[in-house]
Amino acid sequence: MKRRSAFADHLFFGSTGSDLFMKPRLLCPGPTPVPEETLLELARPVTFHRSAQFRSVLGSVVADLQQVFCTKNPICVLTSSGTGGMEAALTNVIRPGTKILCCISGRWGERWKNIAKAFGAIVIEVTCPYGEANTPAQLAKALAEHPDAAVVTATLSETSTGVRNDIKGLGAVVKDTKAVFIVDAISGLGVMECRTDDWNIDFCVTGSQKALMLPAGLAFVAVSDKGWKRVDEVLTQGPACSFYFDLRKYRENLKNNDTPFTPANTLIKALSHSLARLKTEGMEKVWQRHERMAAAARAAATGLNLKLFARVNPTAGLTVYEIPSGMDGSVLLGRLEKEHGIRIAGGQDTMKGKIIRLAHMGYIDFFEVLAAVSALEMVLADLGHKVESGAGVAAAQRAFSSWKAGA
Ligand SMILES: *Cc1c(COP(=O)(O)O)cnc(C)c1O
Repeated sequence: MKRRSAFADHLFFGSTGSDLFMKPRLLCPGPTPVPEETLLELARPVTFHRSAQFRSVLGSVVADLQQVFCTKNPICVLTSSGTGGMEAALTNVIRPGTKILCCISGRWGERWKNIAKAFGAIVIEVTCPYGEANTPAQLAKALAEHPDAAVVTATLSETSTGVRNDIKGLGAVVKDTKAVFIVDAISGLGVMECRTDDWNIDFCVTGSQKALMLPAGLAFVAVSDKGWKRVDEVLTQGPACSFYFDLRKYRENLKNNDTPFTPANTLIKALSHSLARLKTEGMEKVWQRHERMAAAARAAATGLNLKLFARVNPTAGLTVYEIPSGMDGSVLLGRLEKEHGIRIAGGQDTMKGKIIRLAHMGYIDFFEVLAAVSALEMVLADLGHKVESGAGVAAAQRAFSSWKAGA
């Protein structure tokens, strides 16, 4: 057989490793596809970051991000993946022995717990079964039992289960306590409603590789006045828990549209293009677009003869389907990619082999969701699952057409 050139591999076969000519489609809940104009910016020569030009870019990026976060507060721009943003938020408000309540509805809620434990905090877990959401009543009870808790963490979009948590309701419970409210909005911000200021979020964290339509490499933390007070208070009690992630350095530098360390300035410049898209569309419309695609992806489940994993409040950024019992999930995912170029995600850790996760956030549109549903129909049927050709696609189309905002 004639060997393909590396260029042909790259151009036509993507990561699928298939011999078939096809266009690879990335429908994972991070990283997500990057729009063309953002990719073009990423292809430009690297520039020096301590310049008036870069400061003006950072200034406008932060201003645009404030619209996405729905906040008037400063937003720290960190060079790290999303978890770095989570670690930054936590290490600025805890020290060994601090009591912290972690709302946990899946693997990402557990990440808060694991970071807090790594820094010696005392963790009280507020849990619910996978597939369900943390409730404000549950948190209120835990806060009443632990009035000395200084921090509460939660997850907007629990990407591991496809559940959306009621951040507004949870924030209202934390608001009048002394605790600061920290939210992982990494796969939710820029997808669905998230009002950092109005919902009393003191530290709102996101990353670049989800709805912000960039490669991985940047994390963002919006901090409220109550949040900054807690940062200052913790520092009167002893040395800081972090050097690189000491948020006061970012706040100080931000006053001159600068960063304390070398920023990923190429990514920040590219971000300005992705943000321009969101700004042009307007956040309410952005949220509606995602809700509509999510409604269609959920409706597809009936046609696909699959169960949805989220039993309550499904998130708008991805849809999680259960793998039919007896079917090998890795075969299903492998064939979707090899035969159709469709890359969707499986379950993580304990959820491995039990679910598939179809993302519809950022630069993914309805017709890509339809493509994934169509490919699922074909592969599922071939694996012996009872599914009628076209049924999933038809259900998704009907839901998409009849969708109404606020209904
Ligand atoms: C993707 C994701 C993260 C990602 O963290 P990384 O450090 O960027 O891998 C964190 N939380 C949630 C809810 C996510 O969806």
